[in-house]
Amino acid sequence: MERESLEMGVVFVGAGPANLSGALHLARLVSDHNHGVANGKREGKPLGDIQIAVIEKGATVGAHILSGAVMDPRGLAELIPDFVEQGAPLETPVKEDHFLYLTRKHAIRAPITPPPLKNHGYYIVSLNRLTAWLGEQCEQSGVNIFPEFPGAEMLYDESDRVLGVRTGDKGIDAEGKRKPNFEPGVDLLAKVTVLGEGVRGSLTKKLIQRLGLDQGCEPQIYSLGVKELWELPDDRYPTGRVTHTLGFPSDQWTYGGGWIYGMQNRIVNLGYVTGLDYRDPLIDPHAEFQRYKTHPFVAKLLNGGKMIRYGAKAIATGGLHAVPQLYADGVLLVGDSAGFLNGARLKGIHTAIKSGMLAAETIFDALVSNDFSAGKLQSYEQRVKKSWITPELRRYRNFHAGFRHGRWLGMVNAGLQYITGGRAWGIFDRDHQEAGHEAVQKLAAYGYHGGGSAQRYKDLRFDGALTFNKVTDVYHAAVAHDEDQPAHLHVLDKNICATRCAEEYGNPCQRFCPAAVYEMVDDGRGTRRLQINFSNCVHCKTCDIMDPYQIINWVTPEGGGGPDYKGM
Ligand code: SF4
Repeated sequence: MERESLEMGVVFVGAGPANLSGALHLARLVSDHNHGVANGKREGKPLGDIQIAVIEKGATVGAHILSGAVMDPRGLAELIPDFVEQGAPLETPVKEDHFLYLTRKHAIRAPITPPPLKNHGYYIVSLNRLTAWLGEQCEQSGVNIFPEFPGAEMLYDESDRVLGVRTGDKGIDAEGKRKPNFEPGVDLLAKVTVLGEGVRGSLTKKLIQRLGLDQGCEPQIYSLGVKELWELPDDRYPTGRVTHTLGFPSDQWTYGGGWIYGMQNRIVNLGYVTGLDYRDPLIDPHAEFQRYKTHPFVAKLLNGGKMIRYGAKAIATGGLHAVPQLYADGVLLVGDSAGFLNGARLKGIHTAIKSGMLAAETIFDALVSNDFSAGKLQSYEQRVKKSWITPELRRYRNFHAGFRHGRWLGMVNAGLQYITGGRAWGIFDRDHQEAGHEAVQKLAAYGYHGGGSAQRYKDLRFDGALTFNKVTDVYHAAVAHDEDQPAHLHVLDKNICATRCAEEYGNPCQRFCPAAVYEMVDDGRGTRRLQINFSNCVHCKTCDIMDPYQIINWVTPEGGGGPDYKGM
């Protein structure tokens, strides 16, 4: 097939906060340099017109961006010091912090908020809006932004140097044949490609495997955040209040916690995080969130309100021990693709922005010296180590591992982490970090008998007022995919589904997917088969992470398909 090749200077894959910050910072560095040289204020040669591109699989910048989110403004203040005056879309400053422990019936407010969860002076934001705004800043600085351009494949030379990225083809039907609107993807050739695809990026995953960038690191650990926006009938929950909860409905062996953030106009943003290193194979993170809302404290808050939006996204919580090598020939990893989220603080926007800026400074140096080798780009990793990202992650480096010993020891460890700067004395340390698909146990080993008929959530009802089933929730994520295209969820061996997986795990894809994509259906011949409702997919990546046999491969669908997280 004939494909167009476009020569770019630098290509950023994914329009999230890390890459948009990187592209903006790089555009300014290049412009300042060129002006400085032209005015005689700087030595060296001008760099000329460096084409900087950001490609994005969503229909618009921000469409696929979802986070809690309370933002520590440190990163944004370095990128755009007068971000408030410049009109950054900040929902509200945080005015009060609450931390609650939920028993089955009661909410007990802690006398002090744990230090990592103190948010006073930070901002509640819609990351969708903030990202869209960063995209506008990029375009004003001359960055080319290409929405509806998913990165489908990395391009390598014969010695595995990254040459750029191939974007996805458009107009392929469900049988894999070309439709009349067929357009082949484009080869975007770049001196440096920056992967900022977010959590469990499909290109990042393959690149790390191919180049062995995770050698010597612990496996990445993930959680899944499931979230709804509610419109309340009155001002019962103040704008700027941030509540975090621990306890109900998680059992003590499952990492989890809730959040409730007060936004403007009587909107509350609430959600629940479930650690994707759970052991109980019947756990369903969407159902955990629905149960969360049935707690008397939460149900009373939401009484008379209306659910208006839904979303779900995986979060990388492995911390410093799971950060892979951040560079190779012609490529850098930033933001959540690199695993820079601080799981203890539930914050990653500031580190994402900072990592994008450090990548930009590294690329600028590489452009000046015309050297894009791993040896040159290695300085990005040094910059990350010397920046405030690394000490911040180091302080909580063993935070998550403590929860492998149960909630109470996990909390004790979390406190000790804070006091001792992250030490673990060999008890709560990296040796306990285990990939989620390895942590989940088989039904029988967990004590369930009767296969898939065992029910963890037998008392949970979806009443359509407080609690919603997955299909109703997905409707509120405004998901759209062209149905006449190949499924972007590749199950490498479907023979396992009705046999081994049904018996061993009770087909957990039906539960860990928060969007009802996977369904075991009767095939009309008395046997069951897996049906993939791919058009429901909210791109959370949980299936790629949690499938116990690691045979689900999430790849990018046709450009523009997916959720629309406007205002989320
Ligand atoms: Fe998430 Fe996979 Fe379900 Fe899509 S199919 S919503 S990526 S779990």
